[in-house]
Amino acid sequence: MEREVRQARIATQAVWAGEEQSLLQGATQVPIVQSVSFGYDDLEEWQAVALGSKPGHIYSRNTNPTLAALEEKVRILEGAEAATSMASGMAAISNTLFSLLRPGDRVVSVKDTYGGTNQLFREFLPQINVATCLCDTTDFALIEAEVGKGCRVLYLETPTNPTLKVIDIERLARKGHEVGAIVVTDNTFATPINQQPLRLGSDLVVHSASKYLGGHADALGGVVCGRKDLVGRIFHYREITGAALDPFAAYLLLRGLKTLELRVERQNGSAMKVAQFLESQAAVERVYYPGLLSHPQHEIARRQMPGGFGGMLSFVLRGGYEEVKKFLPKLKYAHRAANLGAVETIVGPPATTSHVEVSPADRAAMGIPEALIRYSVGIEDVNDLIADLAQALGS
Ligand code: PLP
Repeated sequence: MEREVRQARIATQAVWAGEEQSLLQGATQVPIVQSVSFGYDDLEEWQAVALGSKPGHIYSRNTNPTLAALEEKVRILEGAEAATSMASGMAAISNTLFSLLRPGDRVVSVKDTYGGTNQLFREFLPQINVATCLCDTTDFALIEAEVGKGCRVLYLETPTNPTLKVIDIERLARKGHEVGAIVVTDNTFATPINQQPLRLGSDLVVHSASKYLGGHADALGGVVCGRKDLVGRIFHYREITGAALDPFAAYLLLRGLKTLELRVERQNGSAMKVAQFLESQAAVERVYYPGLLSHPQHEIARRQMPGGFGGMLSFVLRGGYEEVKKFLPKLKYAHRAANLGAVETIVGPPATTSHVEVSPADRAAMGIPEALIRYSVGIEDVNDLIADLAQALGS
């Protein structure tokens, strides 16, 4: 079954991968194994499982059958050697960085990473004497030059949050490997349906599974997948530091993942139509969406996102933040919330959502206008979404 699933197309993998190993007594769905520990009458068997020479589970901070099914599904979807789950996307990112970096190491990344990730680079990694170099996100020659000076980790995120810049993973991963760096890519926005960083040279992929993978905004989670030796180190760190995912959250994420391809395909199509509509509106100063011909890295996006350009876009209203305050309450089909990637449309200004931890001065330095609105397209009928935006814009 495993070999067949690996060879299947991605929509089939999303439904079937990882399920079989954890089914119980004829159940067709993976059970929620809500148990902290697993008992053994036979001491020799217990020891063999504990030492890893026999399959099985000992304690859910280490491994758990529901988590194992989720990890296997994401592993297959990303085409990875190994995967491990985490309590949230930030747990996935921080456990990855803290397990791979030592005092005296250097990380190269970009200015436009997710706000929490940015905070790790600016606040927490320097505390353990890790130097962080945050480059202009789309100045690839500069990033190559900084990587050329040597670094332990090259950390990428594409498309970026919230201005949807696109980074050339293949080009930068090549440079990273020249200096022996580990290349990590946050694939939360794109999902494996649209972009597969491991195939482009990334060594590891991190996900906030709380977003598109789960897709229903009802469970926090994270996943790291990629090279087996690296995932093994990250898993070991997570086992000890304890950022394990809860089995019930793993079940919700598994259930959401089955419809990943359906949802993302719909969201790709709708986001393109919404972006084109917004671009035609006089009240809108600028639209950021990698699928638009006007997007500065559109050609790179076409190459590295064969599945589609994603369901995230953002736009700037003419008239500044005061207009944003008037516009947002008028939307009928959108949660005003700090989230994205769900079946419902979600809107919010970065100043209150993804970049709330970043100061207004740093936001300005990162090129995030205060009148920017991030729009996560849901699975609603796109005609209703466009009509809703039109009435809120007064067009
Ligand atoms: N990476 C990206 C691109 C995100 O947008 C987010 C959250 O918004 C995270 C990571 C962090 O994920 P979580 O909220 O699951 O910790």
